[in-house]
Amino acid sequence: MEFDLSDELLELQRSVRRLAQEKIKPRARAIDTAGDYPQDLFDELKRADLLGLCIPEEYGGSGAGIMGLALAIEEVTKYSNVLGLMLLLTRLPTGPIMIAGTDDQKRRYLPGIADGSKRASFCLSESGAGSDVAGMQTRASEDPEVQGGYVLNGTKCWISGGMQADWFVVFAKIGDPALRLHTNIRAFIVDADTPGVTRPRVDKKMGVKGIDTTEIVFDNVRVGPNQVIGGAFALVMESLNAMRPIVAARGIGLAEGALMYATEYVKQRQAFGKTIADFQGIQWEIAKCATEIEAARLLTYRAAWLSDQGMYTKEYVPMLSMAKYYATEVAVKASGLAVQLLGAAGYMEDHPVEQFYRDARQLTIVEGTSQIQLGLIARGVLSHDLWWD
Ligand SMILES: Cc1cc2nc3c(=O)[nH]c(=O)nc-3n(C[C@H](O)[C@H](O)[C@H](O)COP(=O)(O)OP(=O)(O)OC[C@H]3O[C@@H](n4cnc5c(N)ncnc54)[C@H](O)[C@@H]3O)c2cc1C
Repeated sequence: MEFDLSDELLELQRSVRRLAQEKIKPRARAIDTAGDYPQDLFDELKRADLLGLCIPEEYGGSGAGIMGLALAIEEVTKYSNVLGLMLLLTRLPTGPIMIAGTDDQKRRYLPGIADGSKRASFCLSESGAGSDVAGMQTRASEDPEVQGGYVLNGTKCWISGGMQADWFVVFAKIGDPALRLHTNIRAFIVDADTPGVTRPRVDKKMGVKGIDTTEIVFDNVRVGPNQVIGGAFALVMESLNAMRPIVAARGIGLAEGALMYATEYVKQRQAFGKTIADFQGIQWEIAKCATEIEAARLLTYRAAWLSDQGMYTKEYVPMLSMAKYYATEVAVKASGLAVQLLGAAGYMEDHPVEQFYRDARQLTIVEGTSQIQLGLIARGVLSHDLWWD
C-alpha cells in the first residue's frame, strides 16, 4: 500500500497551493460580494495550464487524471469554492465524451476545454427531475430530415456555468417522456449557438456566487448524428460515478480552509484571561474536525485513484459515493464549526467563515444529494458489492 503522492502530483499540489494563496485568496470575498464571473482567475488557471488536468495528452490536456484534478480543486477551494467549481467544470461535461464519445467528438470538444478557449456545462436536472433523473421530460425526437439526427425539446435548470458555456452535454429521453425508462435516456452535445437554444434565467442563490446557475431552454434544437454520445443511461451514471471524488475534493478543500482560518483565530482571541484555543472544549472540537477531514481525504484520494483506474462501474459505487457523501458533509460541519468558533465575528462578513458556510451547503445537494449517496452506498452493501469477508 502506497500513501505518498508521486513527485509530479506533489509538484502540482505545491504550484496550485502557491497560486491559490497568491491570486485566489485575495479575490475570494470580492467574487462573493459582486457575484460576477471571475474571468481574471479563469485566465490565471489557463496560464497555469490547469484547465486540461483531467484531459488526456492526446487531446491537449496534461493527463493528470481525476487525482490531479482533485488535488488542484482541494487547493483552490481552501479559499474559493467558485474556483473549485470552475475546475470541476473542466470534467463534468467532458466526462461523458471521454467515457463514451467517438474519436471525432473527443478531437472536436476536448482540446478547447484544455486550452481554455471553450467552456461547457452539463445539463441533466429539470425543475421536476433532480434526484429523479428518470422523471426528466426533455425529449429527443428523431429528425425526419436527417438520418440519425434528433430534435430536442425541453428545459434544464440550475445549470452551473450555463451562461459562459460554449457547448452543453444535454440529457433527453427518446420516445414518450412519460415512460420512466432509464434505457430511453440519451446524451447529446449541443453547441450553445445552435438555433433554438436560449438562456432566459439566471438564479439568485445562497452561495458559490461568481459562477451562475442558469435555466436553459431547448426549443426544436436540431442535433446531427455526430452530436449523439453513445451509452444511454449507464453513461449518465458512470460519468457521475467517476465525478464523485471531484466534488468530494471541493468538500475537503473547503473544510480545510474553514478549520485553518478558525484555528488561527482562536489562537489569538482572548476570553477569561486566556486564548480561546487554551480551552480543552475548543481543542477537542478542532481535533474531531481535523480527524474527520483526514478521513474524508483518504476516502477522496482512494476514490480518485479508483476513477483513474476506470473503476467507476456499479461494483465501485459505494466507495465513490462514500467520498462524495462524507467529504461534503464534513465541509458543512467544518464550516459550521468555524462560524461557531469565531462567535459573533464568524457571523459577520468581516471574516470568510460565513461564506464558507453558505458555499458548503451547495455541496451536499449537487451531483447526487447526501440522501441519494446514502441510498447508493446502502444498495452496495446490501448486494455485497461492498462486503468485508
Ligand atoms: C448550485 C447548484 C448547481 C447545480 N448545477 C447543476 C448542473 O450543472 N447540472 C445539473 O444538471 N444540475 C445541477 N444542479 C442540480 C442538482 O444536481 C439537483 O439539485 C440535485 O440533483 C437534487 O435534485 P433536486 O434539487 O430536484 O432535489 P429533489 O430531488 O427534489 O430532492 C429534495 C430532497 O429530497 C431528498 N430525496 C430525493 N429523493 C430521495 C430518495 N429517493 N430518498 C431519500 N431522499 C430523497 C433529496 O436528498 C433532497 O434532500 C445544481 C444545483 C445547485 C443547487
